[in-house]
Amino acid sequence: AGNLEIEDREQEEARAKAEKAAAAKSAFERLQEDRRTLPMYEYREMLLEALEQHQILIVTAETGSGKTTQIPQYLHEAGYSKAGRIGCTQPRRVAAMSVAARVATEVGVKLGHEVGYSIRFEDCTSDKTLIKYMTDGMLLREFLGEPDLVSYSVMMIDEAHERTLHTDVLFGLIKDIARFRPDIKLIISSATLNAEKFSEFFDYAPILNVPGRRYQVDILYTKAPEADYLTAAVTTALTIHVREPAGDILIFLTGQEEIEAAEELLKQRTRGLGSKIGELLIAPIYANLPSEQQAKIFEPTPAGARKVVLATNIAETSLTIDGIKFVVDPGFCKQNAYSPRTGMESLVVTPISQASANQRAGRAGRTAPGKCFRLYTHHSFTSEMDEDTIPEIQRTNLGNVVLMLKSLGINDLMHFDFLDPPPSETLLRALEQLYALGALNQRGELTKLGRRMAEFPLDPMLAKTIIASEQFQVSEELATICAMTAVGNAIFYRPKDKGVEADNAHNAFHRGNVGDHIALLNCYNGWADDDVNFSTQWCYQNFVQVRSMKRARDIREQLLGLMERTEVQLVSDAGNHDAIRKALAAGFFYHTASLQRNGSYRTVKSPMTVHIHPSSGLTETMPRWVVYHELVLTSKEFMRTVSEIKPAWLLEVAPHYYSKKDIVDESSKKLPKGLGKAPTEA
Ligand code: ADP
Ligand code: MG
Repeated sequence: AGNLEIEDREQEEARAKAEKAAAAKSAFERLQEDRRTLPMYEYREMLLEALEQHQILIVTAETGSGKTTQIPQYLHEAGYSKAGRIGCTQPRRVAAMSVAARVATEVGVKLGHEVGYSIRFEDCTSDKTLIKYMTDGMLLREFLGEPDLVSYSVMMIDEAHERTLHTDVLFGLIKDIARFRPDIKLIISSATLNAEKFSEFFDYAPILNVPGRRYQVDILYTKAPEADYLTAAVTTALTIHVREPAGDILIFLTGQEEIEAAEELLKQRTRGLGSKIGELLIAPIYANLPSEQQAKIFEPTPAGARKVVLATNIAETSLTIDGIKFVVDPGFCKQNAYSPRTGMESLVVTPISQASANQRAGRAGRTAPGKCFRLYTHHSFTSEMDEDTIPEIQRTNLGNVVLMLKSLGINDLMHFDFLDPPPSETLLRALEQLYALGALNQRGELTKLGRRMAEFPLDPMLAKTIIASEQFQVSEELATICAMTAVGNAIFYRPKDKGVEADNAHNAFHRGNVGDHIALLNCYNGWADDDVNFSTQWCYQNFVQVRSMKRARDIREQLLGLMERTEVQLVSDAGNHDAIRKALAAGFFYHTASLQRNGSYRTVKSPMTVHIHPSSGLTETMPRWVVYHELVLTSKEFMRTVSEIKPAWLLEVAPHYYSKKDIVDESSKKLPKGLGKAPTEA
């Protein structure tokens, strides 16, 4: 009887396996059918023919037409991948990962094999990779190792209309490559914007315009401006949920913090409504969201339920989410702002442009008629919003890009072929800063130090910090701190119901109170401790995001690798907080501020009033002199990730930049009692 049972089971298993294979096959076939229904498909032959005749082709089509996922596949199917890889750039990390995963499924291969992606600090490709998605910043880095892109047969610069800094720089580089590599094909693809401008820039390359299917979208405005757009967005979503027929909702917010707040608020409010309403599924999407959770936004919504996607600008054109019928648009996004005069760079919540607003509205009408709720007035739209978004190259610090271009041997930046040139003051500022950091010599040529700095995919100030840390015997510590800051501000969390426990846990990292950088170091070292051994439990106990920590560990590993390559010796002295902060100051001497009589801070070199961010551990200590990682502008200009320094260190680490006068005047001033306590560590 035993034998029979086994046979039965084996048969059963074989049958189940066959059924599963059949189901998988039909799912795969269905996917292929879906591919043929995309607007791009009808233009497949025309595209391939045009590319045979022309080296450069501009392709424009509505979002969701199949530009990103289909064109590289068509080229692969047509045999281009035999001559070299097919590359496709994306302005956003999340889009590169998500699109590569989708295309791997459509091709029927494992992600990272024939289809892969490459983003900063993460390379998911192999020798086999034929279709490679990557961020525009990564392609720029690839130029350093392969200036003629010889391993590629085709390069597609996608989402060109976004006009990110890196995409804009790529335009100039790639136009140059076309001249000495007649065998490479270039595709510039974008949403239906600016096609003529791109064509003109690329010596009047032909434009292939694929008409999209776009349904009617009713646009509704608020009668009066909204004071609190977050709450208004949540209220609007709930009103839609209660009143409108089936169809998913897409809300545009400016960043992770806002998205988390909205998620919390939505949950609270729906709890209050109880079972009176249908199920509401919440799906957030932003740059730092772990990839397993990103997939959630693409899952089909079960019948009877409704999905609310809470997204950053990424859903404007980079990702297509099927099933959206309602768009809620508060009218803001987060953008860099840069003043070449003061050298101040910050992230600012800014009103979007009309072009952006129209892209957002379009998301509601992809598969059926839809509605877009604009949380601003019609008057704001017509008379307060810019027509187009200003290209990033005109509103950001160019330090990194200038360092990269210099490493590529492009010396005369004033005459580089930019689609829209950056302001000349910004270029000068960047050159000046790189000179002050020691990356360029007086003639503006790259120094040995500059060449080493360019190896790091980091802001020049961070790269300089890492290299300088060797001389202070704390390079391992600075690698850790850089890795932790690279993760962004998603390390510590504070659940409302356990606020006190979380605060206590976080305060422990701040023992000594010399700054947030050292707190980050303490946090990482706590997790990496032999006894803790990177445990997840430890993260829970300390209210630290496990995923962020794992990412920091990966980044740290890569930084250690780069340090080896650039011959930065690995030395450690974790207890030497002075040395650590001196190394920081050696790279970040541009980012210093001193305490004022009124309790605010003033940046040292180009005076501007700033404050310590509430998330910092130094909000109460308020040291007289600080170095900060970045400025963010929300209700005020805030310095985020701040450490105390001694002004004399500035003379030591940046004598060419600081003189006694800069620091003496300030530190001799009397401050009101309680402000600017003496350094807690000698
Ligand atoms: P475009 O680049 O023209 O905006 P895409 O190639 O990104 O268009 O998308 C084409 C279609 O592929 C979309 O309409 C969507 O239906 C589908 N699609 C893309 N990415 C995914 C994904 N991750 N999951 C499910 N479907 C997707
Ligand atoms: Mg696309």
